[in-house]
Amino acid sequence: MKVLIADDDPASRLLLESLLIKWGYEVTVACDGDQAWRILSLPDHPRFVILDWMMPGIEGPEIVRRLRESEGSSPHYAIIITSKEKEYATVHALNSGADDFVAKPFNLCELQARVAVGFRVNQLHMALMDKMQKLEQATETISRLARTDELTGLHNRRSFNENFTLAVSSARRYNLPLSLISIDLDYFKRVNDTYGHHAGDQVLKLCASLLQEMVREDDIVARWGGEEFIILLLHTDCSSAIALAERLRDRFEHTPATLTPYPVTASFGVAQFKQECETEDTLLSRVDSALYRAKNSGRNCVVVAD
Ligand SMILES: [Mg+2]
Repeated sequence: MKVLIADDDPASRLLLESLLIKWGYEVTVACDGDQAWRILSLPDHPRFVILDWMMPGIEGPEIVRRLRESEGSSPHYAIIITSKEKEYATVHALNSGADDFVAKPFNLCELQARVAVGFRVNQLHMALMDKMQKLEQATETISRLARTDELTGLHNRRSFNENFTLAVSSARRYNLPLSLISIDLDYFKRVNDTYGHHAGDQVLKLCASLLQEMVREDDIVARWGGEEFIILLLHTDCSSAIALAERLRDRFEHTPATLTPYPVTASFGVAQFKQECETEDTLLSRVDSALYRAKNSGRNCVVVAD
């Protein structure tokens, strides 16, 4: 473990340095407060510091105060040393944020014991930080997975619904257009039946990436379930949504034969949010009926909701 010793008294500095090296620490030394602060400002500096109270430049308690202000989630263990009158010095050192106080001249057994306590506390801090970091990462992963469709990497239904609710409320408040495109792959059951589920999954992934590739960055493409997808188009009116649906339909129809085992086509429903009278549910139900009509009018086509 790395330790910084800052002391302007050469004899005391040397003594501390040799003791700590003997006790197995990796020691850095500073001859005054300014040098100590420079070392503590470097990345990867020692997290265990032994600071003399009175030094030229920044004094020990002030260094501790600055450390506490800036250390965030990566704490230091700080021991202040001094030959000042003990009772007053102990209180002041601890009040400045130090973890411990050792009086000069050193009682070597006591010093060794106090350094060992600091080492243990620091180890615990680091283990705790490490666990917290892992926990944060895990939470982030869980939250991402909870909103992602596992197969396609698109938004899942839950994530779509969250975005949809926000988008509808903002469209209503600012009187902005908002549209949905609902998509269903044609005769998809045949793919699974003929080529197996693995081939079916590959087709779903391919379709997902085609959709993602052809929308704008802030549009939300989600897997609605099975072979059904839905796109939430922010700030988009019906005619632009129809144009996009037509481009998607055409793109699906002309997917190169090398990419899928069979020709992929899809049916599309399009609906624009009606500011005056609509809820999320009625919009979803209108786009769904438009898709249903597309399915019933021969598929591979775009149908606009009433
Ligand atoms: Mg001094």
